[in-house]
Amino acid sequence: ADPVPSDIAIAQAQASALKPIAQLGGELNLAPRELEPHGRHAAKVTLDVLDRLDGMRNGHYVVVTGISPTPLGEGKSTVTVGLAQALYAHLGRAAFACVRQPSQGPTFGIKGGAAGGGYSQVAPMTAMNLHLTGDIHAISAANNLVAAAVDARRFHEATQTDAQLMARLCPPKRGVSQFAAPMLRRLQRLGISKTRPEDLAADEVARFVRLDIDPERIVWRRVLDTNDRFLREITIGEASTERGMSRRTGFDIAVASEIMAVLALTTSLADMRQRLARMVVAMSRAGEPITCDDIGVTGALTVLMKDALSPTLMQTLEGSPVFVHAGPFANIAHGNSSIVADKIALKLVGVPAEPGFVVTEAGFGADIGFEKFVNIKCRASGLVPDVAVIVATVRALKMHGGGPDVVPGKPLADEYTRENLELLERGFANLRRHIENVNKMGLAAIVAINAFATDTQAELELVRTLAREAGAYDAIPTHLWAKGGAGAVELAQAVARCCADKSGAEGFRFLYDDNLSIKEKIETIAKQVYRAASVSYSEEAERKIEQFAANGWSSMPICMAKTQYSFSADPALKGAPEGFDLPIRDIRASLGAGFIYPLCGAMQTLPGLPTRPCFYDIDIDEDTGDIVGLF
Ligand code: ADP
Repeated sequence: ADPVPSDIAIAQAQASALKPIAQLGGELNLAPRELEPHGRHAAKVTLDVLDRLDGMRNGHYVVVTGISPTPLGEGKSTVTVGLAQALYAHLGRAAFACVRQPSQGPTFGIKGGAAGGGYSQVAPMTAMNLHLTGDIHAISAANNLVAAAVDARRFHEATQTDAQLMARLCPPKRGVSQFAAPMLRRLQRLGISKTRPEDLAADEVARFVRLDIDPERIVWRRVLDTNDRFLREITIGEASTERGMSRRTGFDIAVASEIMAVLALTTSLADMRQRLARMVVAMSRAGEPITCDDIGVTGALTVLMKDALSPTLMQTLEGSPVFVHAGPFANIAHGNSSIVADKIALKLVGVPAEPGFVVTEAGFGADIGFEKFVNIKCRASGLVPDVAVIVATVRALKMHGGGPDVVPGKPLADEYTRENLELLERGFANLRRHIENVNKMGLAAIVAINAFATDTQAELELVRTLAREAGAYDAIPTHLWAKGGAGAVELAQAVARCCADKSGAEGFRFLYDDNLSIKEKIETIAKQVYRAASVSYSEEAERKIEQFAANGWSSMPICMAKTQYSFSADPALKGAPEGFDLPIRDIRASLGAGFIYPLCGAMQTLPGLPTRPCFYDIDIDEDTGDIVGLF
């Protein structure tokens, strides 16, 4: 029998031991005004901390990434949380874990929650996996306000004359008609230097009031945080009141909203406002980009997102602090938790005499999450990591070595439950390449072998030996799922040693220079990280790359939207494929987030529900109020 109870059973057994959030805030020396409690075990921490601790040193910055994911699950969140627990509770060092906020889509759908697992969890996991402090709701509200604004504007422009539009956009206030602030900014962009509506010439009025949105090129979609597959493609505007202006569009999952990527990459309220203003919602019929600022919604978005800007403080099962903040999609966006959470945490752990650690998680495998952590997140934050921890499991490496697919509802194949050194050694090729890639960006790699009960000693030793030979700083079997921080003391010691040596960070470098062309950047990632032999572009992608360059968008970093299951664009090609062609089907720009995202294959941006979704198990005990069935 499995001696480790279910994630929620462990979480509930520990519930009474959790610290009140004000106590945790006190331990971190947060001023009362810097802590905004939401219930007993979560609090927003305001960005004021950054001003107060400005100029103080940072703690060590540790990023957790993984091998190419498999359906067997590798345990990146579990290791992120468990490593922080080990550093804090067993090495006695200050340690923060920074993780993404889970989307409710997977919580009720297929995957379940994302608070870590076993004895390495963020607590309370029920709060973390449900509404928490409402950041994702705020994103949905902000995103859908933009969507409503775009279609309403299109409708009003179609049904009114220039003069009518002008009169309604600039109504008199106390007898004087005037421009709202975003309108003045739009006039500036149009090169019209007038400040009073009555001074505009007729042709200027026409240019000012007509965004002339091309309904075929509206890129902004609606979002919701539910796996509702029937909203992937819909027709809107079918009521007679919309006068036949219907059009096809669709919904994405809330965490795929560009606003989520903005939240994750922003550094301050002022910066967030500028990013929200720049987001492109559509093209005009003349082919000009139309931004959120053009539709006048920047200020309202900033207001809706104001509270979401503060990271949420929680704790691990062993009482160490955690920031839960942002959770952008890892394909069409960069899949990393927020910069502001990492920055605040780095300051808070930098205070003790012996600086502590921030353990932050980069989604998917290192070819995606870690590459984007370095080239998008660190480029935006200016932060330099000390070391990367690569999570691997014996089972998943065996799958990369050619082990059979997992069949849902069937027991795991013998390959995964019995010793098989040959399969493991073959699959090690996947981990070897991730180690090499981390080293290529100038960082030391420590492999955390997340041990499962069925792993044999010989298997764990084999991974350890091969990883050291492949250039890892160290490779350490960990038992943090079964034992919590106590199961990762050796890993924590290796991380501390590596950070103290500073051997990790000295050579840190971006993979590519901003100033390269879009294609040069794509090819650098494809060849150096994925080991593709060539990159091919669809006509659509070619055309858009030229357009983006003409728009002056070439200097942004690249956010590859590629399957996480393979280094190639084919999810079935496990292990360490090479010599393949990487096809770029389409390419899009997120001006607010500040990256360009090439699409290597079709990306699903609204998951569906399976026949037997997680929600069947989720319920509440009416007597105790305990939630059951989350995992
Ligand atoms: P990832 O972050 O890589 O998606 P998680 O950390 O969320 O993975 O873990 C996925 C699931 O696997 C969780 O339900 C967790 O409880 C379980 N898990 C993680 N590590 C182990 C382990 N060593 N043994 C058994 N189950 C584990």
